[in-house]
Amino acid sequence: MTALAPDPALLDRRAQVRAFMEEHVYPNEPALAREDDAADALMQELRAQAKAAGIWAPHLPAEAGGTGSGFLEYALLNEEIGRSTWAQLVFNCQAPDAGNGEILHLFGTEEQKERFLRPLVEGTARSFFSMTEPEVSGADPTALRTTAVLDGDEWVIDGHKWFSSSAEGAAFGIVMAVTDPDAEPHRRMSQILVPTDTPGYELIRAIPVLGHAGRGWSTHCEVRYTGVRVPRDNVLGEPGDGFRIAQKRLGPGRIHHVMRWLGQMQRAFELMCSYALEREVGGGPLADRQTVQNWIADSAAEIQACRLLTLDAARKLDEGGEARVEVSLIKFYAARVLNEVIDRAVQVHGARGLTDETPLGHMYAMARAARIYDGPDEVHKMVVSRRILKEFADGGTYRFD
Ligand SMILES: Cc1cc2nc3c(=O)[nH]c(=O)nc-3n(C[C@H](O)[C@H](O)[C@H](O)COP(=O)(O)OP(=O)(O)OC[C@H]3O[C@@H](n4cnc5c(N)ncnc54)[C@H](O)[C@@H]3O)c2cc1C
Repeated sequence: MTALAPDPALLDRRAQVRAFMEEHVYPNEPALAREDDAADALMQELRAQAKAAGIWAPHLPAEAGGTGSGFLEYALLNEEIGRSTWAQLVFNCQAPDAGNGEILHLFGTEEQKERFLRPLVEGTARSFFSMTEPEVSGADPTALRTTAVLDGDEWVIDGHKWFSSSAEGAAFGIVMAVTDPDAEPHRRMSQILVPTDTPGYELIRAIPVLGHAGRGWSTHCEVRYTGVRVPRDNVLGEPGDGFRIAQKRLGPGRIHHVMRWLGQMQRAFELMCSYALEREVGGGPLADRQTVQNWIADSAAEIQACRLLTLDAARKLDEGGEARVEVSLIKFYAARVLNEVIDRAVQVHGARGLTDETPLGHMYAMARAARIYDGPDEVHKMVVSRRILKEFADGGTYRFD
């Protein structure tokens, strides 16, 4: 299978996901978006249907309890799943559980996998990733202040975090904490598993984001750890491995986001094209206006560029590389295209684009955060340019292969 010529079995699987989306997800979006008790019950029903259909946890391989086989395959499936905000939860490949599941699969001990990974994959528990702190820059995690100190056979954790997405209703979090303040900066931190029923863990509030407080999975929470005690064995990998594991988590996590954005962009694009043909202004369809034609042509080119960059990065990850440049490149570029395409689609729809009569208003609000979470644009541009310039400084060149 290559990025441009997926094998027929994968195309069948993608068609199966598309049919499921059309039959079960799109018609239920308005009900799911209400985020009330009825929405929760409906979500459980849809998850059971997706599981029964064998389209479950497609980000993880069979040995970890999923149904996936690699990044390239997942990119092509996620392009369909990403079209609806809610679908990632339906197929049990939602952020942040997907990234947490991957690091537990890669770095967890057998006990950690049994206790923490298995319920995630089975869909009976959710989790969160607790790194960012309000007091210091999240873009520079070497400055994080939360500490974990060994006391006998226990870690004692103290700290204050925010934007711990999905913490409301989660069974556990993975907490980034300083465990060796005297080590070199990238060996100072560890990732520690903290069940939410541990004394000293406190969920302070769900932070409203652009006017949306969220519920359960869709929350972004402020949390505090005060003398939280967990067993020494709850550390992932070795103490000091926090950044190494974060890199493994954030690389895939970023490309998972981008794959979903591809779905969002394409949906916005389709809405823009259909409405441009349908809406009459000044005696003819909007589609006859050159400004609109430019938006459509620019969007088509940019979306396809994002797809190809994503498939290229996915292939390199499948081949065992870290694809650091490729992942950073696609993270900032796709975040911009996502925002621009949705913005153009809203503009073509006029006032209707801001109402709940189309999915565009919700998509627009969600898209803005893409330029900030998992590293702001500026940091990814810095990573890309530093790596490219280093090649030149070392007497080499940068190859686009
Ligand atoms: C919707 C959402 C969900 C999130 N979910 C999670 C989560 O689940 N877990 C978690 O731990 N965190 C989460 N975050 C937090 C996110 O990862 C951080 O917001 C991000 O890393 C930036 O950190 P900061 O907000 O502290 O901004 P800062 O680090 O204070 O940066 C502020 C701004 O400064 C600029 N800047 C920063 N560094 C540089 C640089 N080197 N060069 C030039 N300009 C720079 C950028 O424009 C940046 O936007 C989430 C954020 C959002 C919006």
